[in-house]
Amino acid sequence: MSDIIHLLPDNVANQIAAGEVIQRPASCLKELVENSLDAGATHVRILVKDGGRTLLQVIDNGKGMSPTDARMAFERHATSKIQQASDLFQLHTMGFRGEALASICAVAHVELVTRRPEDEVGTQLEITGSNVIKQEVVQCPIGTNIRVKNLFYNVPARRKFLKTDQTEMRNIITEYNRIALVNPHVQFTLVHNDEIISELPISTTKQRIENIFGHTSKPFTGQLVDVATNSELVNICGFVGKPEMASKNSQQFFFVNGRFMRHPYFHKAIITAYSGLIAADYTPSYFIYFDIQPDAIDVNIHPTKTEIKFADEQAIFQILLAAIREALGKFNITPSLDFTSEMHIEMPQASPQIPPIAMPKLQVDPSYSPFKKSAQQRQNTAGWEDLYTPSFFEPTNQEPNQQLFKLPNITESTPLVQWQNKYIIMLTTDGIVILHQHRVHTAILYKELLKQLQQQKGISQSLLFPDVLELSNEDINILQTLQQDLQTIGFAMHQLTPNAYTITAIPMLLENANPAETILQVIHQVQDTGSNLKQQWQETMTLALADRMAIPIGRELSDIEMRDLIMRFTENCSAQYLSNGQTIFTILTKDEIQKRF
Ligand code: ADP
Ligand code: MG
Repeated sequence: MSDIIHLLPDNVANQIAAGEVIQRPASCLKELVENSLDAGATHVRILVKDGGRTLLQVIDNGKGMSPTDARMAFERHATSKIQQASDLFQLHTMGFRGEALASICAVAHVELVTRRPEDEVGTQLEITGSNVIKQEVVQCPIGTNIRVKNLFYNVPARRKFLKTDQTEMRNIITEYNRIALVNPHVQFTLVHNDEIISELPISTTKQRIENIFGHTSKPFTGQLVDVATNSELVNICGFVGKPEMASKNSQQFFFVNGRFMRHPYFHKAIITAYSGLIAADYTPSYFIYFDIQPDAIDVNIHPTKTEIKFADEQAIFQILLAAIREALGKFNITPSLDFTSEMHIEMPQASPQIPPIAMPKLQVDPSYSPFKKSAQQRQNTAGWEDLYTPSFFEPTNQEPNQQLFKLPNITESTPLVQWQNKYIIMLTTDGIVILHQHRVHTAILYKELLKQLQQQKGISQSLLFPDVLELSNEDINILQTLQQDLQTIGFAMHQLTPNAYTITAIPMLLENANPAETILQVIHQVQDTGSNLKQQWQETMTLALADRMAIPIGRELSDIEMRDLIMRFTENCSAQYLSNGQTIFTILTKDEIQKRF
């Protein structure tokens, strides 16, 4: 027998596990409420004291537990929700690891009172530091009432790490909203220090959204547009805010099978659907619910992680993009028909008496541009079905940035005008081309940087005064994965301390952008994509760098500069969209202009 290696006692092992699952009062609350929902509760009451550090109590009317189960529930890996590994792929409950209660009771004083509908009496349990110190028979209502007191009482490091009560409460409200938004069939009450913070009656999803955000400065009443699409792959429903509701801090929620998730890639689909409808630095609000076969997503995610991987993300991107466009189109917010140059269909003006057709199926239209509004206003009742592709919802592998317009050639005499120090307008025989100056340059630099990466030859310039880059542990991890590529492109950096780097050289192209800030931005963009594919990292990194290097909006350009920019663009890339879906240029075609007269 070994003298050195020994098994940790359960209470120590549980305490270590708790560090992962229960990071703060909000994560503890999330686990408790999810248990109530898994138990089929229709009313969940939450009582919080002092931001959750003194008390977190959850009272539900769910199916309760037998005396044996009540005791079992606090054992590690004790769960009633799965029995074998294959169950993981058919998961319909929030919990399944059987870790939460074991973790919570390792780091708090826990009291549980529970009764099943079929039992006359209930069970009361008191647990401290993983030890049951009391188990009794009690009179109590059906359901479960759990009190978690003095969280982290025995882990001083954790307790110290807690923020102010106000901040912890804000985190609790964030978790509460995420859960409430996806369970409108459940009544919720949230009380903090004896004050009612939120009361949510059973309602529809739309009412739930309105109830949750009703008291904020931007209530959603009358501002939500329905989104709904069903396909074999995925069902998507929910709401998006009207474009005029867009702001710098909008409410953005994705849910999959009843669970909140973050998904930067799907977020881009929504942003793409709104492109041209809202100002550049504004984002739309959305509440999107995905319903998908459990085996098409990675369920075995860590309980504290909100990123969820899907099997077929590209196809879902397309479906989502189309669904949002359709939703916006239905409300005449975007063009609902696509008149590309191939479609010369003469359609008489719809008479005002004919009601608009409800819910046309729309073609995926990555070329959507706000300039096509006039065409849409001519929407007609006769023969419109022919314009729609029946296979609309069939997932395609098209990239969202598929090229639809080709940029007409530029000659020395092509007239160019800069407009609003942001767009370059180019007059050609085929139509009027409008190019976004910053994005045209971004596209050129993106190509250039990718080439340098592939050929391993970036051009570097030394900094007179090295810049210092300070990073969090998470940032450091990402930086280390990107470091090689950053060096190839022309950055030189050295680790100073565990959390700081000096930057001594930068790519020639970066000119006067702040080096440390640039790298930080790159790191955060890569982090936001949530991908762990190296190629996607490289692309995100390169695009972020190109974006920093490109001429900004607001810069006045001379005729020569504009001409040079467009020539380089035509030579190198001339795609209509950046790889993040942003439109680089659009064309007001001759036909479209003619239709206006
Ligand atoms: P998991 O939810 O992953 O199964 P937990 O540690 O959160 O693990 O809970 C362990 C078990 O305790 C659950 O599987 C469930 O059977 C039972 N349980 C926990 N909370 C409740 C509740 N509010 N009502 C009924 N049963 C519960
Ligand atoms: Mg659970």
